[in-house]
Amino acid sequence: MRSGSSWSANLTLYCAACDTHHSLQSLAWRCADCHGILDLAGFTPAFPTAADLARRPATLWRYAEALPLAEPAAITLGEGMTPLVTAPGRPDVRLKVDYLMPTGSFKDRGAVLLAALASGLGVGRMVADSSGNAGTAVAAYAARAGIACEVYVPAATSPGKVAQLRAYGATVHQIPGSREDTADAAAEAADTPGTLYASHVHNPFFFHGTKTYVFELWEQLGGRLPQTLVLPLGNGTLVLGAYLGARELLAAGLIDRLPRIVAVQAAPCAPLAAAFRNGQNEPAPITPKLTVAEGIAIARPARGAQILEAVRSTGGAITTVTDDQVRAAHAALARAGLYVEPTGAACWAAISAGLIGYSDGDRDNEHDLPLAVAPLCGSGLKSKPPTGLST
Ligand SMILES: [Zn+2]
Repeated sequence: MRSGSSWSANLTLYCAACDTHHSLQSLAWRCADCHGILDLAGFTPAFPTAADLARRPATLWRYAEALPLAEPAAITLGEGMTPLVTAPGRPDVRLKVDYLMPTGSFKDRGAVLLAALASGLGVGRMVADSSGNAGTAVAAYAARAGIACEVYVPAATSPGKVAQLRAYGATVHQIPGSREDTADAAAEAADTPGTLYASHVHNPFFFHGTKTYVFELWEQLGGRLPQTLVLPLGNGTLVLGAYLGARELLAAGLIDRLPRIVAVQAAPCAPLAAAFRNGQNEPAPITPKLTVAEGIAIARPARGAQILEAVRSTGGAITTVTDDQVRAAHAALARAGLYVEPTGAACWAAISAGLIGYSDGDRDNEHDLPLAVAPLCGSGLKSKPPTGLST
């Protein structure tokens, strides 16, 4: 564990597009020079020993050596180490129950790091833009950290979600227009001095939180990863985190190859599936349509190029599911005792529809490894069932 400051003095925000470093204290959310995407540099993750892991609490902070920030004792809500259960009717597939997080979604993995970062930097105000799980998670951890939080949401956001954000003490700004208009309003607010833009898309610390999804899987499967990780794909919060975590395990010699990442988009809004199919390196321009899987309906993902590169480098794929497939998967999961939000059924929809593309040769009966693992990302208690929505 680190002593003194809660992170290494070498940490910087790095823009690969123009090879420039920015200090954490700059609170930059994009490159000040070229507006490029920022990643974390100056951090060398290590991995705890089995003996260390055996005596640590079952939270994501058990991977302290692999995280860029020290555990924020006053901020953590015990997030992490969610159950891994057998999929209904499919003993060769496991589901990781990430909706059993403090705010009911996997976004807590990243939000706790952003709150710890804001606290460590002495920032008095965090800004987020999300009508869903990310905004809720940031609002909760900001409250826990005693930091003012403003959340920008589309005007059409359901009153229930707005009520939850306000309950956490966040100031909610309801922005008319598109999802992009909301993001633009948040970005403008984020440029106010003394503000941390707690973005699950732009802030690279978020992905160092979501990478713990893969660390936990590795531990829960006895020091191995499955052949295939099936992951939902909108902004790539979990795809990029899982890719980062798997690469760190590979670099540490704890796995011998990267698992295939099969990412799942909603057919009505699938710019990355289209780009993958066409061999393009940037998200395809699309006209998005409404989908029941609203949590992954992102028309212009800012990290699209990174996502495409990550999926391709694992030998994976990007597939799509229709709203009818999502509805059927949502109902099937609920009938098996797993009540997720509609978006949380997208991966199971792809698996159920046979879209994942593994072969019997991938089976590892000797080690009893599942063929594939998918997350159940968000609780069904957070949203209306998909039968109540129309496309
Ligand atoms: Zn730059």
